Amino acid sequence: MKVAVVGGGLAGLAAALELVDTGHEVTVFEARPTLGGAVQTLPHREGDPEPPPDNGQHIALGCFTEYGRFLNRIGEAGSVKRLRLALPVIDERGRFETIKPAVSWLLHYGHVPLADRLRIVRALARWGDDAHEATFADELRARGQSDVAIERFWDVFIRPALNLPAESASAEAGIFTVRTALLGGRRASDLLLPRRPLGAMHGDAAGRALGQAGASVRTGVRVESLDELDADAVVVAVPRQESARLLGEPEPELEDSPIVSVHLLFDRELLPRPLAALLRSPAHWVFDRGRLTRHEPRRGQYLTVVSSGAPELEALRGRELVDLIAGALTDRLGAAELLWSRVSREPAATIAVRPGSEAERPGSATGRAGVVRAGAWTATGWPPTMESAIRSGCTAARRLLAEVGTKAAA
Ligand SMILES: Cc1cc2nc3c(=O)[nH]c(=O)nc-3n(C[C@H](O)[C@H](O)[C@H](O)COP(=O)(O)OP(=O)(O)OC[C@H]3O[C@@H](n4cnc5c(N)ncnc54)[C@H](O)[C@@H]3O)c2cc1C
Repeated sequence: MKVAVVGGGLAGLAAALELVDTGHEVTVFEARPTLGGAVQTLPHREGDPEPPPDNGQHIALGCFTEYGRFLNRIGEAGSVKRLRLALPVIDERGRFETIKPAVSWLLHYGHVPLADRLRIVRALARWGDDAHEATFADELRARGQSDVAIERFWDVFIRPALNLPAESASAEAGIFTVRTALLGGRRASDLLLPRRPLGAMHGDAAGRALGQAGASVRTGVRVESLDELDADAVVVAVPRQESARLLGEPEPELEDSPIVSVHLLFDRELLPRPLAALLRSPAHWVFDRGRLTRHEPRRGQYLTVVSSGAPELEALRGRELVDLIAGALTDRLGAAELLWSRVSREPAATIAVRPGSEAERPGSATGRAGVVRAGAWTATGWPPTMESAIRSGCTAARRLLAEVGTKAAA
């Protein structure tokens, strides 16, 4: 079977690998000059430190099993650093506490009062999967959690995981994340942190693996219409607006959620850990990019700050944003001189998993023979993550394979 895969993000790449590995003739069409979609390294600019900044820090979790399988397939399993979940959290006065998925640690999490810690432990011990409220924050309140606990404990990991704060995210998405990652057992909550530039370890490596397996990859080619494709079957693995246009369907009623990343080189070390969250700060999470990629600068510290689901930051101009974020770090961690900076904005980083959004996410079937849909935004049962993208691609490919099998049998 001759298959065209439209979109070279993780969803399209996963579908393409699955199809070429089962002996089909695959061509991937990607509009951009590089593969990888939302998982990218920024184009090189004079003066960038090594390695060049990514479009935003990406984190995978131990429960991302299909992502792990994908990295294995493209020869990049060694490009992530696996750490037991330990989230350092810095409060308004610069004090560190750590969130770990163990009762003894939760009881010592000093950024919330003891009564809240006890309620957190109790809620986790009795975690039920049924949602009774619309938003995750309301669900948490119904499960005995205070606003202080929501802001200073739950949102620390829910906000980056769902790219929305608990007040906006759907209860189902929050419940799923806690169940699957925090309570998933067998190292489901481990952090998988990239050691290499995202572009090299995803798009470039997958492109090579596809080439070696006999697939064709055409970058810089935007597919305008499915009719132009010379193929027996098509995987449409593009964002939802483009998917609707190509498939001639109404757009699903979903919203975007942005991610803003600010990359900073300071003249001295500010952050004594590889990563940390900042409470009550426009700088939600900070990562020591030099240390994580084993490229520590000769002088100072190379940091990446990521703020998820914060549309108010989107509106700021570059210089204002850098001043705000750099100031948020130096106010809390000590004075330092900023030597270099770069901003990366992704206004449509993910769909917003608000109450009701799940019903708007279609599955892989399109109603057209030989045409399937994929993308992190589709109905995978997962929040719109790298895992969701890869799962959607594999599911779409298997649906095509099942269709071919049924036809051959008929
Ligand atoms: C800054 C940022 C940080 C993130 N952090 C995390 C994280 O920490 N952990 C996590 O799991 N996820 C994270 N995500 C989300 C994750 O990256 C995405 O969910 C996932 O990569 C989406 O993959 P996709 O293949 O579904 O879509 P995309 O990556 O959007 O790929 C679609 C591709 O289709 C191409 N295309 C569109 N139209 C056409 C056309 N007509 N013809 C040909 N090609 C076309 C596009 O150029 C694009 O490359 C983050 C995203 C961003 C932006």
